[in-house]
Amino acid sequence: MIGPWLRAKRQGRFGRDHFLDRREVLRQAALVLAAGLSSCTAARPHNRAGRVVVVGAGLAGLSCAYELLACGFDVTVLEARDRVGGRVFSRSDIASGDGNVEFGGELIGANHPHWQAYASHFDLPLMEISSDEDKDARVLLGGRMLAAAEADALYAAMSTGEDALTRAAQNMDVEAPWLSPRADELDARSLGQFIDGLALAPEAARALHLSLACDNAVATSKQSLLANLTMIKAHGGGDFWTLSETHRCRGGNQQLAMRFAQTLGDERILLETPVASIAPLASGARVTTRAGGVFDCDLAVLAIPPSLWGGIDITPRPPTLQTGAALKHFTVLDPRPGEFVTTTQYAFSDQLPTMCWDGLDGQGRSDAVLVGFAGAEPAALASAMPSQERNSQIAETYDWLYPSVRAHSVRRYTANWPRDPFTQTGYSFPAPGQITTLRDRLKRGYQHLVFAGEHLSSGFPGYMEGALDSGVALARALATR
Ligand SMILES: Cc1cc2nc3c(=O)[nH]c(=O)nc-3n(C[C@H](O)[C@H](O)[C@H](O)COP(=O)(O)OP(=O)(O)OC[C@H]3O[C@@H](n4cnc5c(N)ncnc54)[C@H](O)[C@@H]3O)c2cc1C
Repeated sequence: MIGPWLRAKRQGRFGRDHFLDRREVLRQAALVLAAGLSSCTAARPHNRAGRVVVVGAGLAGLSCAYELLACGFDVTVLEARDRVGGRVFSRSDIASGDGNVEFGGELIGANHPHWQAYASHFDLPLMEISSDEDKDARVLLGGRMLAAAEADALYAAMSTGEDALTRAAQNMDVEAPWLSPRADELDARSLGQFIDGLALAPEAARALHLSLACDNAVATSKQSLLANLTMIKAHGGGDFWTLSETHRCRGGNQQLAMRFAQTLGDERILLETPVASIAPLASGARVTTRAGGVFDCDLAVLAIPPSLWGGIDITPRPPTLQTGAALKHFTVLDPRPGEFVTTTQYAFSDQLPTMCWDGLDGQGRSDAVLVGFAGAEPAALASAMPSQERNSQIAETYDWLYPSVRAHSVRRYTANWPRDPFTQTGYSFPAPGQITTLRDRLKRGYQHLVFAGEHLSSGFPGYMEGALDSGVALARALATR
């Protein structure tokens, strides 16, 4: 997450025409990719295909299984929950009527080629988010609301830091970041150290640390600089700041998971089947479920977040990648406050929550669902709080940011992903040193066990796009192995 407020301000700076042109170029590129998704793996001779058990029916596990099926593999997906989609969970029971609210993965980028390609392939309509670039931002920092001119000046100073990151990202190797020039040095360095070396004004530096910690779910001191630069390059350099959060799927992002599942068929996806262990056989792997079911296969694909690996008996025990905290709080507002029309829906603060927007944006509603998003330390703290304390802290922040919200609030919910037993995180981001020492190792996997998930994507870690990128890349690698 980059934060819709920052994206809107950037877009305003570059001009809407530039944004629309770039979006069209990227959409065309995604269509080219769409034509090559299943067909590239389908070229593989079927008689060499094997039996694969995929653990986890999030976007990574499902896209991998979908592509493997297309080229003749015998695939079974084991999923712990009673639904598919994992951290992509579209809810129509929060707002009245059929309003859709995303509990987890929400914003899709024009520069997210797999999402765009699958949307086109499955005929899923993507809708552009409102940018509000001509409206004043709501920014609460240091215990006071910034005036419009102050917020603009803050943004201009922050974007100096973002531009420096974009320039530093130019020579990254997106496919194999550990082969980028000075990879070891950039991986050992944290994003926090890079920002501190920029000599930004203190308030701009603080806001940049805050927004990038919130986006990547861990403090900037715990983020590999190499991982950040690779992610920026993969998103198109400067486009990272403007085009990474441009769309939602009308009717819910989870429809993509359901389309994969429909093609795979009920017989290949076993719900409510949590896996307890994965062990090597003389040839292949044995996957055992908590209920004692045994699935022998040529290869197991582990497509669950690294935060859960400790709870499964995995042989050999893989090295783990860093994961962070992220959560969303929802306040249902009925009727939609007038201030959502007259001023921007977006807000940024150094309180809980850090970034806010209307989750029913673009759905033509008379009500609204204010989404409060937090990542990193504030999310970890909020996740551990009793819900009453969390609600009251967030309501106090809203008193500053959106004065009419308290009067319009009818219900509140929290999507507490770090406390969810089948997630236990927000999403991943590599710690300093982890790209050069671990990513390549995990990407190669073992003879009987390989890995998929947003945490395996070099260019899109923490994004739905990263889950798809890793699932498709793994299927391609297996089809040509
Ligand atoms: C609050 C929040 C906001 C986000 N916002 C965005 C956003 O705006 N844009 C964006 O692109 N991304 C966003 N993301 C990130 C995005 O949702 C994830 O990166 C992506 O969905 C991860 O997919 P995955 O397949 O790798 O993992 P998951 O979706 O976690 O899938 C793993 C699956 O494995 C299952 N599982 C777990 N344990 C077991 C077991 N023992 N046996 C069998 N199955 C098991 C789980 O139930 C789950 O279905 C957000 C995430 C959060 C938490």
